[in-house]
Amino acid sequence: MEFVSVFDIFKIGVGPSSSHTLGPWKASMDFRNQLALHKVRFIGIELYGSLSKTGRGHGTDIAIMLGLSGYNPIDIDTSQIKHYLDIIEEEKCINLINGKVDYKYTTSFSFNNTSLPYHPNAMTLKAELENGQFIEQTYYSVGGGFIEKEGDLFQKESDLLSKIPYPISSEKQLIDFINRTDLPIWKLVLHNELALNPLSEIENKIDNIWQTMKECMYNGCHSEGYLPGGLHVKRRAESINKKLLQNVKYDSLEDWIACIKASPQSFDNINQWISCFALAVNEENASFGRIVTSPTNGAAGIIPAVLMYYYCFNDIQGENILYRYFFTASEIGSLFKKGATISAAAGGCQAEVGVSAAMAAAGLTELKGGSPKQVLIAAEIAMEHHLGLTCDPVGGLVQIPCIERNAIGAMKAISACNLALNTDPDSARVKLDDVIKTMWQTAQDMNQKYRETAEGGLAINISQDIIPNC
Ligand code: SF4
Repeated sequence: MEFVSVFDIFKIGVGPSSSHTLGPWKASMDFRNQLALHKVRFIGIELYGSLSKTGRGHGTDIAIMLGLSGYNPIDIDTSQIKHYLDIIEEEKCINLINGKVDYKYTTSFSFNNTSLPYHPNAMTLKAELENGQFIEQTYYSVGGGFIEKEGDLFQKESDLLSKIPYPISSEKQLIDFINRTDLPIWKLVLHNELALNPLSEIENKIDNIWQTMKECMYNGCHSEGYLPGGLHVKRRAESINKKLLQNVKYDSLEDWIACIKASPQSFDNINQWISCFALAVNEENASFGRIVTSPTNGAAGIIPAVLMYYYCFNDIQGENILYRYFFTASEIGSLFKKGATISAAAGGCQAEVGVSAAMAAAGLTELKGGSPKQVLIAAEIAMEHHLGLTCDPVGGLVQIPCIERNAIGAMKAISACNLALNTDPDSARVKLDDVIKTMWQTAQDMNQKYRETAEGGLAINISQDIIPNC
């Protein structure tokens, strides 16, 4: 049994990937702290498996350099990332806590395409100290920005678990608690969070998450040009936003939202807005922008796009919208993390976009007045129709097919919600637990080339002339 907080699922960070950027970033910050009292002569970074194969396209190397240099993904000025990297390149050194260490990309980084047995996303950080000793630590980036350290893999979470009133690791346990307490899913989650943090802190964090998501959509809708990485992918959210709003003027994020609400509400327009919100987030993600991991970076567009759809185009019903949406969605993400995986390197894109769509479908069903059982049915439907989805990022970048896949995932989430609201739970034949188990079995059967290696699917079938050497 593992405890996963809402704020483990929703984390403010930097794109383009939670497992390949955020996880390695956190690991290198941890290693930097381990070296705090030491004089270091040399730093070596060995990337294994998927981190080696798609790490350059996913910014793994950049994240590690920034993490070792003491920058934090939560508050780094993302507009300055290139500048910080230029300084490292010019000075040929990294500023550790106890002094500088010489650094050269070609001698410090080594890429090893073989996987370590525990998880395909592995990295070993090594330091040679001035006194001749060595410090070495292997980390696993297990999806959604979660990291595990070799040696700590079996550390018990018994402290945390003993504090929370509703430990949940399956749909069945969740339904038992719902039946016993008569509480909706989001309230069970809230009680668990309150056992660990005061309400004021929880409120601040949730507000901050939604504000960051809104800013991300706004920034994405107002940024033109091409995405970095060499694939020459043109950003589209900006032109869709401009087309849908025509010549309407606004000068702030909240004004922009008011204009969207006042725009024509045909099916076609709403559909385009949902795509626009999702594209905006994932274009920001691909540009090393500020992102809320939900539950991963590659799939970060679905959850904000679906909530924005609710805010802009639905009659808002009831209170506590943010709690109801994010807490419900988080519990679904947590069930997939515990029963299967949220790592594309372990389970393909079903583990990223599929899980995110299931989370958004559940949150939206809660907001639209669905019963807890209908909420679970919505999550089940959304995942059922993502089963087997492979991960084949072209050029190892989180751009093709990732960006559009979020727009499609958001639409599937909304369809799953509508189907669930029209479903009598007693007549439903597939349980969420069944689909989680199926997703995990499918992950294990999936050929490795479809698990975030860029060695199969679209990654090898589109014209090789346009694929950068990354
Ligand atoms: S294909 Fe899916 S899982 Fe793979 S990098 Fe893109 S969004 Fe992530």
